[in-house]
Amino acid sequence: MANTLYHFINGLRVEGRSERFGEVVDPATGQSIARVPLASAKETASAVEAAAAAFPSWRDTPPMRRARVLFRFIELLNENMNELAQLITAEHGKVLNDAIGDVTRGMEIVEFACGAPHLLKGHFSENVGTDVDSHSIRQPLGVCVGITPFNFPAMVPMWMFPLAIVCGNTFILKPSEKVPSTALRLAELMHQAGLPAGVLNVVNGDQEAVCTLLENPGVAAVSFVGSTPVAERIYRTATSKNKRAQALGGAKNHMVIMPDADLDGAVNALMGAAYGAAGERCMAISVAVAVGDKTADALIERLMPRVRAIKVGPGTDSEVEMGPLITGEHLARVKDYVACGVEEGAKLLVDGRDVKPAESAGGFFLGGSLFDRVAPTMRIYREEIFGPVLCVVRAPNFASALELINAHEFGNGSSIFTRDGDTARAFSSQVQAGMVGINVPIPVPMSYHSFGGWKRSLFGDVHMHGPEGIRFYTKLKTITSRWPTGLRNGADFHMPTL
Ligand code: NAD
Repeated sequence: MANTLYHFINGLRVEGRSERFGEVVDPATGQSIARVPLASAKETASAVEAAAAAFPSWRDTPPMRRARVLFRFIELLNENMNELAQLITAEHGKVLNDAIGDVTRGMEIVEFACGAPHLLKGHFSENVGTDVDSHSIRQPLGVCVGITPFNFPAMVPMWMFPLAIVCGNTFILKPSEKVPSTALRLAELMHQAGLPAGVLNVVNGDQEAVCTLLENPGVAAVSFVGSTPVAERIYRTATSKNKRAQALGGAKNHMVIMPDADLDGAVNALMGAAYGAAGERCMAISVAVAVGDKTADALIERLMPRVRAIKVGPGTDSEVEMGPLITGEHLARVKDYVACGVEEGAKLLVDGRDVKPAESAGGFFLGGSLFDRVAPTMRIYREEIFGPVLCVVRAPNFASALELINAHEFGNGSSIFTRDGDTARAFSSQVQAGMVGINVPIPVPMSYHSFGGWKRSLFGDVHMHGPEGIRFYTKLKTITSRWPTGLRNGADFHMPTL
């Protein structure tokens, strides 16, 4: 009998009462490892009530004290790192050292959030008028919600709740129903670190829980990360209800390889960026744009044997480089894309469908695939595949490579490999993407910068974490005060001027 999970509301494990459950499956075996309750509207509303009740005293807790909880949380993350990584690998399938990276990159946001007392400092202007001073402060919004995808069970939730909470908000996390255990464990560690009940709640569920959260007038803000169609719908619904919203969506990240690039370095970079985590990263490189046929031929010659040699297997095996895909359904979808690329006329150089690791009995394994001569009209170029499939597009020159990227509907990350400073500078200045790498394949910004794409990779104006995160989770108030008191010259009926 599979283990039955729970919600975490008001500091307690709460059994699901909806009688609806999702199955949590180990993608390396295809076996069910747990049942996750899918919250009803009533259960979801109870989390909003708990978070609303906890808000006044948490808002009034000094930022330094709020940060101290996070300092203790960092210690607990380090103490429990291996256990968290194992939970991630069991439910997501990524290799263990990548799962450690998932927790570590999330922990870096917590480290940034510990600076809240400084980050929340306002501005003060003395004597904006005679005896009049002005100061601006940032205050929390209230109950904030985070809805997260399956592919980073630790990092993406930690893009959200540590900053929201340290800014004085209370929070409801609705993690992906495919990978619920890490979020539950993180919430429990936050409470072990001293967080008061109700400040961080985890509601497990699907569309019903999400819709309830979006409709609830007690929710002030929504952060979402997931696929573009859902991101767009969530952004529109949340903003139509006057909630603050940021919704990060899908991607198709390009890497330009210039003729002067260090080709061996570019190939190493592409292997990790295209095939790491089986391509299930929103910052994975899924298109290599080789400038010039000579560059393309040399690149492909080096890539082909490397792609064929990728070690595919369960993420718990330390020799393995690429784990399984998340579900059988997603595996079938990625295989369909490979078939579709062949039908559309792209040249399939390495076919990942041929790869069958010994342990593959019920696991959702797929090898790396490599396509050459991919055209911008093909579905494998236009759509996000979210699997270990790399498309090589040949461009005659830098200008056409740039034009190609800028015409794509997504604009999450983009990168260039070159030894030429002029080209690199022109690329970073002109490319239509939110995050850019120069000889760096996966330019995920550090916690003290902000993460977010452009175009249909992000709905809303504000990126996640870093300074933009502080801005998202607070609202500005400006106070103008006169000391000594008293309007000495009678009433003024025009706008106050100096
Ligand atoms: P998804 O959109 O299927 O699910 C994301 C979340 O939304 C989950 O919590 C899910 O329960 C919920 N959800 C799904 N369908 C819903 C619906 N119809 N109504 C309301 N809620 C719904 O995404 P996923 O498959 O879990 O994650 C993969 C996607 O996430 C990829 O497209 C990837 O590019 C994207 N992603 C983007 C970023 C980024 O920073 N831009 C980061 C990570 C992942």
